[in-house]
Amino acid sequence: MDKLAAKIRPVIQLTKGQPVSDGAGVRMTRMIGTPQLRTLDPFLMLDFFFSDAASDYQAGFPNHPHRGFETVTYMLAGRMRHKDNHGHEGVIESGGIQWMTAGRGVIHSEMPEQADGLMKGFQLWVNLPARLKMTEPAYFEFSGDALPVEMRDGATVKILAGKTSLGTTSPVANTHVGARYFDINLALGATFREPVPGENAAAIVLFEGAATIAGRELTNPSVAVLGEGDTVQVTAGTGGARFLFLSGRPLYEPVAWAGPFVMNNDIQLRQAFADYQAGRF
Ligand code: FE
Repeated sequence: MDKLAAKIRPVIQLTKGQPVSDGAGVRMTRMIGTPQLRTLDPFLMLDFFFSDAASDYQAGFPNHPHRGFETVTYMLAGRMRHKDNHGHEGVIESGGIQWMTAGRGVIHSEMPEQADGLMKGFQLWVNLPARLKMTEPAYFEFSGDALPVEMRDGATVKILAGKTSLGTTSPVANTHVGARYFDINLALGATFREPVPGENAAAIVLFEGAATIAGRELTNPSVAVLGEGDTVQVTAGTGGARFLFLSGRPLYEPVAWAGPFVMNNDIQLRQAFADYQAGRF
């Protein structure tokens, strides 16, 4: 039987992200959710925070609501305390992840647990399918040492969510959109390859070093949205590369988005504001 050659996914869009200020004045780079890259269904937004100036992050994200999607915080350096109105509280430390399903509603705060030093990490927003937008809130929370690491030829793959083609599985299992989320360190000149079924959206978010994907060169930070094919392939440039691998099943549903609420239509959005104001979250 012939073994079919892998079809490497090309880069169909390359964007550098844009500087934003959010929460009470936290300075970040928005990688997904910008005018250049509105969404990457099923992913709504990706923020990259990276600063050793306390003035960039100390104001944090005081109490605010969410409904209709999931927020995923991955810390690379620093400590972030979160607390919600259902009695859930904890600190996400360097290397750790929190996957929060806001569902029908949470009001929470996300505040730096440090007065100085480096604060670095990502927050990803993952959409929920229409039938699950009003599901009960839920959390996955794991410290860095609880997340599996796969050693490949020249590559260290930390599995934040989902499962690799070699079977390494994160304790964070998102079944709603089949999300796979990896943090990959690639040595100079090494190549990372991972099969990704054609129906899935896929992106590479380079945040250290340089890399090449299907002939396109990436400098950090940047997001490469990948097109049709069945395999993601990334080769590190001089000095190596560190990047996030992101894939998931698109929902193909209407998105009605107003600030912290992401629903399917305006009636649901108005209901979200009314419920929040009436204290029904
Ligand atoms: Fe939040």
